[in-house]
Amino acid sequence: MTTSPSARATTSAASTDLRQEAFDLLRQLIICDTSNPPGRETSAAAIIEAYVDGSGLEYERVAKDPERTNLIVRLRGRGTGPSMGFLSHLDVIGVHRDEWSVHPFAAVVKDDHIWGRGAVDMKCQVAATTVALTALAREGFVPNGDLMLILTSDEEDGDRGVGAPHLVEAKPDLNPDFVAGEGSGERFDTPTGPVYMLDCGVKGSSSAKVTVIGTSGDASLIDVGRNAIDDLAVLIDRMRRFEPPTRIPDELQPMLAALAPDVDDPEEQVAAARAISPELDQIIGALTRTVYHPVILDAPGPDNVVPRRATALISAIVVPDMTKDEIEAEVREALGADIEYQLEVEEPNGGLISTPDSPLRDAIAAYLAEADPEATLVPGLAYGLSDCQVMRESYDSVAYGFLPFRYADPMLNLTTKHSADERIAIDDLEFQTRGAYFVAKYMGGVER
Ligand SMILES: [Zn+2]
Repeated sequence: MTTSPSARATTSAASTDLRQEAFDLLRQLIICDTSNPPGRETSAAAIIEAYVDGSGLEYERVAKDPERTNLIVRLRGRGTGPSMGFLSHLDVIGVHRDEWSVHPFAAVVKDDHIWGRGAVDMKCQVAATTVALTALAREGFVPNGDLMLILTSDEEDGDRGVGAPHLVEAKPDLNPDFVAGEGSGERFDTPTGPVYMLDCGVKGSSSAKVTVIGTSGDASLIDVGRNAIDDLAVLIDRMRRFEPPTRIPDELQPMLAALAPDVDDPEEQVAAARAISPELDQIIGALTRTVYHPVILDAPGPDNVVPRRATALISAIVVPDMTKDEIEAEVREALGADIEYQLEVEEPNGGLISTPDSPLRDAIAAYLAEADPEATLVPGLAYGLSDCQVMRESYDSVAYGFLPFRYADPMLNLTTKHSADERIAIDDLEFQTRGAYFVAKYMGGVER
């Protein structure tokens, strides 16, 4: 593929006030509560439809459950270039209202931020990409390949089969050649200058089910039976204390080289990269080992019996290419050999990686060169699963997780999404909107 005069891509739209429109649209989307469950994402899809209507964009609902639609918005191209989709989800994680200092669904504007559930994860991207594509349509821009918004439901929970899995089944011909979704995009300050990580793929997800079989007994006596919960508690504690070995995925080498260029020993390089800042400690730490957390406990009653059986489901997020046998060996090492237990390890899922060399990476790099010239874009990995993985699996798309945050403290993003007081700087929303406009225009100029 070649890029035609690259880029007449710019960051400023002719007639649209990108900042104001993204601000208004994001506030509407936050106020529309799509906590999943139950989701009810169709109400958010209707806001997008009303916004794009009449601009020249086509739109189409793809729904298994009419209250939980997916939405495809399209700027139709000439058919002479690759297609590209901006992938976002319309649902949000539910809230614990008492943890919030503001109402989570009022889209409060305070301290130059918009506050509310979904501000970061990821209604900002829904608003930014909708405004950008609409501006291009209003200007009469005709891309070589189709430019799309792929807006999914049920990403955060994913158990209902109504979101991305339904979309790819119902639309086998959607086939975006390139996809930009969530996963990375925070700006890290490093000794060698600011760095954005382009997430080209994701760690794998697995789990280990640990079951202890004890001996039941009368719970009103002091020393009867063998309580399965007691033994399971010891095993869970061992899991918590376990230091998994460092595993360095090949895909992370460019990032490590950028963060700690002068260190040769791989383990020392990881340590040096983690030592740069608390946020890099979190992210590089998560990307270079298995991350274990007990997530579900079960010991069926009745409540007057010392339980015979207790089970813990332990989530295991693993580096790409790690096998089931390797996970099992790691878990057994953590649990020790003196307590009897049964172990079932799930085959790891995920771990697909897109090539880091593509016009989409060039487009993102070109935007940053213009809008944040000190910074560099370095390929890396995402620590958590997203719908990007579904696009790689189903369409063989080159999919990157990249949603840029130029101004936010990365730690604030990491600690507030899926938690309380989620908020986005209005400057970041504008940065994302201009980025989406630039990238869409650039990709619309790529020829097949
Ligand atoms: Zn998300």
